Amino acid sequence: MSTIASYAADPANTQGRRYTEPAPQYRSEFQRDRDRIIHSKAFRRLEYKTQVFVNHEGDLYRTRLTHSLEVAQIARSVARSMGLNEDLTEAIALSHDLGHTPFGHAGQDELNDCMKAFGGFEHNIQSLRVVDWLEDSYADFPGINLTFETREGILKHCAVKQARLLGEVGERFLNKTQPSLEAQLTNLADEIAYNNHDIEDGLRSGLITLEQLQDVPVFALEYRQVMRKYPDLQGRRLIREILRRMIGHMVIDLIESSQVAITASGVQTLDEVRAQPVALMRYGDDMRARKNVLKKFLRENLYFHPTVYRMTWRARKVVRSLFEAYMQDVRLLTPKYQAFARRYEADEGEAGRARAIADFIAGMTDRYAIREYGQLFDLSGPG
Ligand code: MG
Repeated sequence: MSTIASYAADPANTQGRRYTEPAPQYRSEFQRDRDRIIHSKAFRRLEYKTQVFVNHEGDLYRTRLTHSLEVAQIARSVARSMGLNEDLTEAIALSHDLGHTPFGHAGQDELNDCMKAFGGFEHNIQSLRVVDWLEDSYADFPGINLTFETREGILKHCAVKQARLLGEVGERFLNKTQPSLEAQLTNLADEIAYNNHDIEDGLRSGLITLEQLQDVPVFALEYRQVMRKYPDLQGRRLIREILRRMIGHMVIDLIESSQVAITASGVQTLDEVRAQPVALMRYGDDMRARKNVLKKFLRENLYFHPTVYRMTWRARKVVRSLFEAYMQDVRLLTPKYQAFARRYEADEGEAGRARAIADFIAGMTDRYAIREYGQLFDLSGPG
């Protein structure tokens, strides 16, 4: 299908940008969003941020950058086949992790703990802070001034308390309405991407094994079929053959199940999509159950593996130590963040200072954070 569905997001009907700008020439509003994201500093930093494995552990592991590109690939192909807006989908996919801290979830959890008394830290909200405020490349406004539709897609979830502070993008969490299908779809494409690439990276690292994965039906099913057809296939090639089939089947299930739900709902417009009580982009029941078994397997066997746990412990220590040092003395921050810390502190007291520090730490790449930690705490090294 190459026609655009009536319920797709339409760049000509965007709810607009926070700062009004002239319409773009020769490209749509959503194309402009995507282009701005690719040119942002935060996007380039994704190359040096951990997905699961810390960036320097091996050249073939996913980073946040390659993860974001895989999400965009999956999301775009679903969008195109369903007549949804491909440019908006791509913009959301490429920006969804811009607010991620160094060191993956370990970094985010520790920074959230550090910020407990100061309003907490959440990477979705931080991604929005990056595009709304922290990027500084335009003369006329802070941030990169994206459309409402892209910003809505970036904010995948949000607590009610936070939602009240976020204006129009927070409203759907208060009114219990749905985002665009493009946003819903990108959220699921994110999950398809990481579930599959984390298996591959986990196997590559040796932390999980093919034998263990026999207990995961969604994997075991493809494994048996591949072995029947190619009994001699081994190693990386076997794993890739299984995973590409898994991705394919998840994508097809998502397209077909969502199309059934959309048709059954009778929605014709984006407003009707928003008014639905539940998201229309979804897996079928069987695939959802199998996918949940896989997620549980990865949590228990990879994310909480003793080796990963040691990495997590070290990462948490780096984040905690930096946060405490900057809180004690803001002169350790770069001049730009010192100015932010003083300005926010004048407005909001200690919580303002903490927020500027969280912004600074969240923006760091893994290697920047490690270098900074070495400079501040390793007294034998260069200062
Ligand atoms: Mg992601």
